[in-house]
Amino acid sequence: MNVYFSGSLNEFSGCLNYFCVKTRNFICLLMICLLFCAFTYTPHSSPMFSRNTFIIIALFFLTMFTMMLVNPIPVRAQLQIAKLWLQPLPSANSLPNPVPKQRFIDTWGAPRGGGRKHEGVDIFAKRGTPVVSNIDGVVWKMENNRLGGTSVWLIGAGGAFHYYTHLHKYADIQLYQYVKQGQVIAYVGNTGNARTTPPHLHYGIYVNGKAINPYPLLNKKS
Ligand SMILES: [Zn+2]
Repeated sequence: MNVYFSGSLNEFSGCLNYFCVKTRNFICLLMICLLFCAFTYTPHSSPMFSRNTFIIIALFFLTMFTMMLVNPIPVRAQLQIAKLWLQPLPSANSLPNPVPKQRFIDTWGAPRGGGRKHEGVDIFAKRGTPVVSNIDGVVWKMENNRLGGTSVWLIGAGGAFHYYTHLHKYADIQLYQYVKQGQVIAYVGNTGNARTTPPHLHYGIYVNGKAINPYPLLNKKS
C-alpha cells in the first residue's frame, strides 16, 4: 500500500492508481496498443472532433471499462470505493469511537519496540468487546500480520485507510463488503505483538500511505 499511495496524489490520480493496482502491466500494454491503432488511423474531418480524437476518447473509456472488468475486485466494490474516494477526508471530532464508550488517550508518537513510534490510538476493553466500523467503507483487507495479529483494513471517505488490529476474531464480514458506520466488524483481543498486553484495539488511519494521528479526529464522547 505504501508503494501505491505514496506522495501527494490528487483524487483523480488516486482513483486511477487504484484501478490500475492489480492489472498495471496488462493495462499499459493495452493502452500502448490502442493508442498506436488510434494514431495510425487515417484521419477524416468531422464538425466537432477529428475522427482520431473521437477514437482516442472512445478507446480511453473502453480501456477504463476493461480495467474494471479484469480487476479481481468486484465492480460493485470498485464503484463504491471510487465514490468514497471523492468524499472529503474525516474532520476533527467527526469519527465515532470504534469501541463505543471505552476511554482512550493520545499516545501518538510514543516509543515502541525496535525504534518504532506509535502510529495510532489504543482503546482498551475486555476481550470479545465488539469493534464497530466508525465509517461507511469497504473492507479492503483482512489479514494476520506479525505486528498487528488479526487485522482489518477499511477504505473510507477521501481514500483514507482505517486499520483495526490486535483483534480477537472477525465478526461476520467479507472482503470487499460495504460496511455501514456502527456495524460490528470484529472483537477486541491481543493478537500480534500485543499478546503480552491487556486486550485492546489498535486503531490507525493512513492517508496517501502515511499514518496520521486518529486522536483529533475521534469524538471523545462516543
Ligand atoms: Zn497501538
